Amino acid sequence: MNNMSMAPGQVPIVVLKEGTSETKGNQAQRNNITAAKTIAEIVRTSLGPRGMDKMLVDTLGDVTITNDGATILKEIDVQHPAAKMMVEISKSVDNEVGDGTTSTVVLAGSLLERAEELITKNVHPTVVVDGFKKAAQKAIDTLKDIAMKVDPVDKAFLSKIARTSMASKMVAADSKELADMVVSAVLAVAEKSGDQYKVDVDNIKVEKKAGGGIHDTKFIHGIVLDKEVVHGGMPKRIENAKIALVNAALEIEKTEMSAEIRISDPHQMQQFIDEENRMLKAMVDKIAAAGANVLLCQKGIDDIAQHYLAKAGILAVRRIKESDMYKLSRATGARVINNLDELTANDLGYAKLVEERKVETDKWVFVEECKNPKSVSILVRGGSQRVVDEAERSVHDAIMAVKDVVEYPYVLVGGGAPEALASLKLREWAATLSGREQLAAEKFADGIETIPLALAENAGMDPLDTQAQLRSKSSTGKARYGIDVLNGKVADLAAKDIYEPLAVKEQVINAATEAACMILRIDEVIAASKSKD
Ligand code: ADP
Repeated sequence: MNNMSMAPGQVPIVVLKEGTSETKGNQAQRNNITAAKTIAEIVRTSLGPRGMDKMLVDTLGDVTITNDGATILKEIDVQHPAAKMMVEISKSVDNEVGDGTTSTVVLAGSLLERAEELITKNVHPTVVVDGFKKAAQKAIDTLKDIAMKVDPVDKAFLSKIARTSMASKMVAADSKELADMVVSAVLAVAEKSGDQYKVDVDNIKVEKKAGGGIHDTKFIHGIVLDKEVVHGGMPKRIENAKIALVNAALEIEKTEMSAEIRISDPHQMQQFIDEENRMLKAMVDKIAAAGANVLLCQKGIDDIAQHYLAKAGILAVRRIKESDMYKLSRATGARVINNLDELTANDLGYAKLVEERKVETDKWVFVEECKNPKSVSILVRGGSQRVVDEAERSVHDAIMAVKDVVEYPYVLVGGGAPEALASLKLREWAATLSGREQLAAEKFADGIETIPLALAENAGMDPLDTQAQLRSKSSTGKARYGIDVLNGKVADLAAKDIYEPLAVKEQVINAATEAACMILRIDEVIAASKSKD
């Protein structure tokens, strides 16, 4: 394109490298909006319990089947920079609140579509951006007003949150059991500070194994290790386990430099071996003397040491990941020891049962029935690898939704009810504004109404009829009328126990508005050429 500038009477100066492309003004805006809208279109049909799944095939032919917005966008290879921004917001929402990813992208797409209508009518993008920002704040204020405060440790209520999160996923049929497990897991690791709770979801270990059915998924008051007991002669089941967590090798350290030992007499060789054995036995004796009957080791365990451990009736597992050692410590109350000389009975942890079990073709060690564990596990099962993968994602989303409520105990009714009311309130507020800001605020109200309408469309309902019904129901001022997708009508969803965290809805609006505004503010795309340098 035009990479040169010409000062009057002078030689041309090259500003941009040859091959650089420039797209300006309206054209740049339109391209960006179209790209972002395309992304939103892809996930729109996945929104809600009646949303469809996507089958994603990567370049190696691996197949992923999912309904999760963030996963869909992660898997597809997006080229356009504006489309990439949409993928990024879904990722950021996934990291922040873990749920609401599809809604965010659908909302951002819809806001851009409305913005385009205004830009076509010659409203300047900055006016749209300002109007959208104010409207987003207003929408969030409305949601805060209508949110309900709940008891952050009310198991029954939290279970409703988990079930709503899983309602749109493949696991919906088993969501009752899964929801209870998710709630137990989150509450087990929740820590109170002041009058608030903090949940570190890293303390919930979600393991998965294809085989069985989703109903075989188990909650474990402790940790599952995808490792086997290290020696055939060791016990495979220990009740009232006293557990030593050791971050030191039960091996004779080899010297860094290559050393040479000259042996003149065969007995010396034997002595040498005997000495090694003695050292290894001394290590095992220290563990036994502390009273441990289970050894969980982060490093290696020599064959000879294994033999002595087996003789002492100690169950041992080696080469455990550092992150698992930390979780084991929180679950059993044991202290991780770096030097065997330090090990005392006080450092041992407790689990009612440590057992090696067959999980399909593998052998895994279960450290379970810990007393008051501060780290727990969920072992997700499902008929095939694709099913467990999707089930694991759904469990992750549900864990995050429950965590959101435990940490910030405000909820809203789901099914698009709060969006419908917020859109109504925004329209009333827009009428009080003057000038072009009013137009932007009205468009924002339309945009936010897309969420209930997309849910309705995916449930096979007529969008126009639904919109009229929803508006009339919402005009009562109650944020409980949304899309009952399973029965295909507008209904009171509080009565159906469909609740969602306020934190998720706030994040959805914030992230979608931010992405839409960022894309709207771009009036020039300067793309480097795809040359090698
Ligand atoms: P996201 O990735 O945005 O969470 P989902 O596909 O999980 O997208 O859909 C979430 C939407 O589905 C939310 O608006 C939620 O309120 C709604 N929803 C969930 N369960 C139900 C239900 N049983 N009836 C109506 N709407 C529901």
